[in-house]
Amino acid sequence: MPLDHNWFTEVHQDIGSAFSLQVKQKVFSEQSPYQLVEVYDTTGFGKFMVIDGCTMVSTRENFIYHEMLSHPVLFTHPRPKRVAIIGGGDCGTLREVLRHPGVEKCTQIDIDEVVTRAAQLHFPELCESNDDPRAELLFSDGIQWMQDAPAGSLDVVIVDSTDPVGPGEVLFTPEFFRACLRALADDGLIVQQSESPLVHLDLIRRMYASYRAAGFNAVQTLFFPQPIYPTGWWSATLAGKSGGLDRFRETDARAKPFPTRYYNADIHRAALAQPEFFREAMQGNT
Ligand code: SAM
Repeated sequence: MPLDHNWFTEVHQDIGSAFSLQVKQKVFSEQSPYQLVEVYDTTGFGKFMVIDGCTMVSTRENFIYHEMLSHPVLFTHPRPKRVAIIGGGDCGTLREVLRHPGVEKCTQIDIDEVVTRAAQLHFPELCESNDDPRAELLFSDGIQWMQDAPAGSLDVVIVDSTDPVGPGEVLFTPEFFRACLRALADDGLIVQQSESPLVHLDLIRRMYASYRAAGFNAVQTLFFPQPIYPTGWWSATLAGKSGGLDRFRETDARAKPFPTRYYNADIHRAALAQPEFFREAMQGNT
């Protein structure tokens, strides 16, 4: 059935697949100096943000991504207080980070204020912690901010970026990882959205190699479903200066003093399990 104008479709030419959502209307569209930001009202997934034609966030299932990009790394770090989010302009990851009472400061650096403005208009629930006194929202290029950050001034870096194209490309480079390594304290951790484990293995392999080249000694990938992203299966990759990324503060995670809809200690443990094909593909890189 050919799809008409009532459907948004993202075509993944490289893998011969496509993803579609039935839309009621487009409710936001603005070309920024960096990218085209659009928001649709859909029939089954609530509001839906698209950047440069790529699916970003939907009301219905964003909680999985935002929770998996924040809680695993924060419960892996011994006592996270100083956090930086690179990207994350929809503010959903910021909200999850600030659920942790031990976090004293969280700085979000997104290159494009249009994304945050679109989120404030159409995803207000994601922006509910923007006025938290611990939150700082900045709009600049993440690599420049990280290169200017004082050495050892951060406990956790979360890279909630677009795909490695356009403005997001630089966030997948050894230069950026080196800047993160310098800005992180000795027990500091970085986590980054690392695309689909099924069809982006080459990118993930390159990320492992770049993390190592930058000086990170331990790398670990977590897996989770994400319905609106290519293949519906996504990942987040952690790196640290010392090992033990497959261990976390399980008792604290079980007693977490805040609600979640996807994340819990069992989900965390399960997300650490490495599929055979992935383990083989990363052989020699881990
Ligand atoms: N969940 C989405 C994904 O996996 O595709 C990412 C969501 S978040 C909206 C991505 C953000 O990265 C965007 O707001 C974009 O402006 C930001 N971004 C891209 N390149 C950047 C850069 N070099 N520095 C800071 N933010 C950047």
